[in-house]
Amino acid sequence: MVIVMAAGATDAELAEMIGQVEAAGGAAFVSRGVSRTIVGVIGHEDVLESLDLGTLPSVSEVVRITAPYKLVSQEHHAGTSTVTVGGVPIGPDTFTLIAGPCAVETPEQTLAAALMAKKAGATLLRGGAYKPRTSPYAFQGLGLAGLRILADVRAESGLPVVTEIVDPADIDVVCEYADMLQVGTRNMQNFPLLQAVGSAGKPVLLKRGLAATYEEWLMAAEYVAQRGNLDIVLCERGIRTFEPDTRNTLDVSAVPMVHRMSHLPIIVDPSHAAGRRDLVVPLARAGIAAGADGIMVDVHPQPEAALCDGGQALHDATLAELAEAVATLPALLGRRSAVRMLP
Ligand code: PEP
Ligand code: MN
Repeated sequence: MVIVMAAGATDAELAEMIGQVEAAGGAAFVSRGVSRTIVGVIGHEDVLESLDLGTLPSVSEVVRITAPYKLVSQEHHAGTSTVTVGGVPIGPDTFTLIAGPCAVETPEQTLAAALMAKKAGATLLRGGAYKPRTSPYAFQGLGLAGLRILADVRAESGLPVVTEIVDPADIDVVCEYADMLQVGTRNMQNFPLLQAVGSAGKPVLLKRGLAATYEEWLMAAEYVAQRGNLDIVLCERGIRTFEPDTRNTLDVSAVPMVHRMSHLPIIVDPSHAAGRRDLVVPLARAGIAAGADGIMVDVHPQPEAALCDGGQALHDATLAELAEAVATLPALLGRRSAVRMLP
């Protein structure tokens, strides 16, 4: 259930309410909004009901959440939340372009990709230092050296960094360099990893597992939220179907469905959905039209020489086409480009 505290509730009253929940074996997660404090309460429903928290003068409302995912549900928070990454918003009023190389390879390649991304309108840089590859013989990423390159390129380009974490053991080092932690499709149900990123205090980009239902995806997000982190952005990146001509099938329905089921913003990754450059812009347009809060694409200064996913990386003409789509289509839906707010 979700407890909406009364407007004038004091910290002492909040602590008293949480004390009652914990004494009953439950757990409480506090979200402080501008005008009201909301507490997600998890525990045995019957025991929590018997506390009759709605009768406390400090409580304005008790909302019973029927969805199995609680903190990330629409019932907990109506509408779409805004998640801010290094000063860049991702949410309902804006449209955010995240772009960069699939993998960090060299300082020159990463900087060139970041500048291409920025020119196309990106306000966040993507790039993998730890790569979750299907084959153990494929390029696995530069690890710490890659994170350092990303930090240098952030300083040079001004673009905050989104980068993947694959092992909970790397959480401290990745947090030292990243502005947003990406959990990839292969790790969507890696529960220790989800709990580690939930406790890390950084925004999280949670990609959909390649065979995950919406409910499984939102339950994975709930693992992050349950550790006290509601700064989660979901990413539809294509699911596995019977179609061999594309790498995956972009599930455009995910965008409006997630917006109905959850308050978390959702972006689309047409690059990993298609696996081929010629489909990236059409799928990006579809994602924007469906109401995505942003898109994430691979770009590379020399796709033919890329160590990872070069066949889907945008470059020259295709990147210009993407930039045109991003500059024009979101505005038709009432969204403005997300720019970085400096503190
Ligand atoms: C990526 O974005 O670099 C990536 C590996 O994506 P996915 O987890 O969607 O395959
Ligand atoms: Mn990739």
